[in-house]
Amino acid sequence: MNDYNSAIKFLILSNCHEEAFQLANQHGKMELYGEILINTIDDSNARKEDFKSLAMHFESQKNNFLAGKYYFHAKEYQKALRHLLKAAQLVTDENEVLSLAIDAVASSKDDKLANQLIDFLLGGDGLPKDPKYLFRLYMARKQYKEAAKTAIIIANEEQISGNYRSAHDVLFGMYQELKKNKINIPSEMQDNLRLLHSYILVRLHVKKNDHLRGARMLIRVANNISKFPSHIVPILTSTVIECQRAGLKYAAFNYAAMLMRPEYRSQIDAKYSKKIEAIVRKPPKSKDNEIEDEPLTPCPYCKNKLPETEINCNKCKNTIPFCIVTGRHIIENDFTACPQCDFPCIKSEFLRIIESEKTCPMCSEKVDINMVSSTLDIRLYLDFQEEKPPMKEF
Ligand SMILES: [Zn+2]
Ligand SMILES: [Zn+2]
Repeated sequence: MNDYNSAIKFLILSNCHEEAFQLANQHGKMELYGEILINTIDDSNARKEDFKSLAMHFESQKNNFLAGKYYFHAKEYQKALRHLLKAAQLVTDENEVLSLAIDAVASSKDDKLANQLIDFLLGGDGLPKDPKYLFRLYMARKQYKEAAKTAIIIANEEQISGNYRSAHDVLFGMYQELKKNKINIPSEMQDNLRLLHSYILVRLHVKKNDHLRGARMLIRVANNISKFPSHIVPILTSTVIECQRAGLKYAAFNYAAMLMRPEYRSQIDAKYSKKIEAIVRKPPKSKDNEIEDEPLTPCPYCKNKLPETEINCNKCKNTIPFCIVTGRHIIENDFTACPQCDFPCIKSEFLRIIESEKTCPMCSEKVDINMVSSTLDIRLYLDFQEEKPPMKEF
């Protein structure tokens, strides 16, 4: 009935492997045969020879991709990688090929093969590949330290190109992996994630007409404006506007003055240029002490009071974890963590945002308000040097 799929499957299930191979070969259905073999055989060890025959068949047809694929299933990793790397140089869609090469190298647990693949990914053939493959290889081989470094590089590239959400998500994903494997988070990763998250929080608060919370986050971003090179002028402009709306006149004046530099001035959106020039022309009379206006809340390490969006305690010198809703430092008497991603936050702020948005601003997962804990111990989220349980060497 020309139903080769059923016929081949039936032969394989009946243990007539030789006949299945012949039938597929005669009718040019070797790819189909291979797929059925992969999907029907639970224990691939049992039929290594069948995969090898398939690999040799595709090898003779100079089909590097399929030869590599079936050498991989036959557990002949060195041959698999050799064919896959050849295939990666020829095909246009390298995703499938490189993913298979990564799986093959990870299964082989062979450092020599890993180095060969790393060379290739770094551009051994003159063409460096997307760093996400390197990241995936390190993760598959449980080399978390190298994976973290690669994630930071990938995120930096995304950030420089202005893709702040994807930079954020790369760091967030890496952060969760490291935590899952009980490995210390590099401080560079924490700092970058906090900064990117602050940027993302701006829109959340401004959308809700909460200009003060938005302005505070914009100030944090504007103070690190060199990390947002694709959007310097638009970010500084938003900072001026939001600070003005929030009544932070001194900050608004400062960032407006920054925008008057010749390299920025010409790029200001015409819609705002008059307004910004007006702000610069009228400096605030006294130094409105806005920093002192910001409420002081206690450091969860040493109880020293510091401005709520300050995350470095000047007394105990600790960096305090930030709240994923406000970007402020977390506080002991109003504390919880997202039930989905376990990132810490100020409980009242988290409940308020979950009520209206339904999703967590860090992990974007839906949060059931009944799952939000009121009894979490903040100490589990702090980094007490002397009481820290032994961590794996990072
Ligand atoms: Zn402190
Ligand atoms: Zn979350």
